[in-house]
Amino acid sequence: MQVALTSLEPKLLSCHELNQFKKDKLNYAAVSSLFTSKKKRKAVHLLLVFVSTKNQTHQQKRTTMAHILTGIVSLGQHILQLSRDPQDYRPLCCPHCKSAKLWQHGFYLHKAERLPSSKRSNDSIQILRYLCPSCKRSCSTLPECLPPRRWYLWSIQQAVLLALLKGHSLNDVSQQHLPCRQTCRRWWRQLQSRFALHTDCLRSRFAVLGRAQSFGDFWRACLEKMPLSQAMCLMHQSGLSIP
Ligand SMILES: [Zn+2]
Repeated sequence: MQVALTSLEPKLLSCHELNQFKKDKLNYAAVSSLFTSKKKRKAVHLLLVFVSTKNQTHQQKRTTMAHILTGIVSLGQHILQLSRDPQDYRPLCCPHCKSAKLWQHGFYLHKAERLPSSKRSNDSIQILRYLCPSCKRSCSTLPECLPPRRWYLWSIQQAVLLALLKGHSLNDVSQQHLPCRQTCRRWWRQLQSRFALHTDCLRSRFAVLGRAQSFGDFWRACLEKMPLSQAMCLMHQSGLSIP
């Protein structure tokens, strides 16, 4: 994507545009070559410094987002993975200071009452924590099936989304599924408000999703192709904050 020169005013560049701008290094060269006089070169230099600083801030935000171990699509798989090979949960580096040395630092428990009833008999779900000896801050890695900052599994959110897409009322949906009416409505509204970001990101990976224009068509097509957890992980990897 070529960023139009008129959109290079710092305040007009969104994070997404910055990301695109950063990806396309030719843009840097193209912009620089347009400016020949010393004054203009200075202006473009300041702009590029700004872009690079903003990219850095954006990058920092991305890396301090939760680590997610992809491919762990159920709590059963997560429990098995923890017992067989917990090392897979170890982040490559500290998300805060980038130090590669991380110590395992116990775990925290995912609240069991928000899990499906079949899992509630089991103890709460363990999420491993790591401590960085350099900056003394901790981090953890979530399995793909658990969203950051939300207690309900992606699979529950997917069931709610599909029911709402089928035209069920919020009351019906909250009676069929675990979350209350307000929570279902909040998820629905958040998905709608982030629709443009989500479509941008997923259509760049799956061209076929470009055919689905409306909110309903897009999410139906997307969920036929992959579970919501995978779609959200892909967006997370692209730098979008999820959910
Ligand atoms: Zn650190």
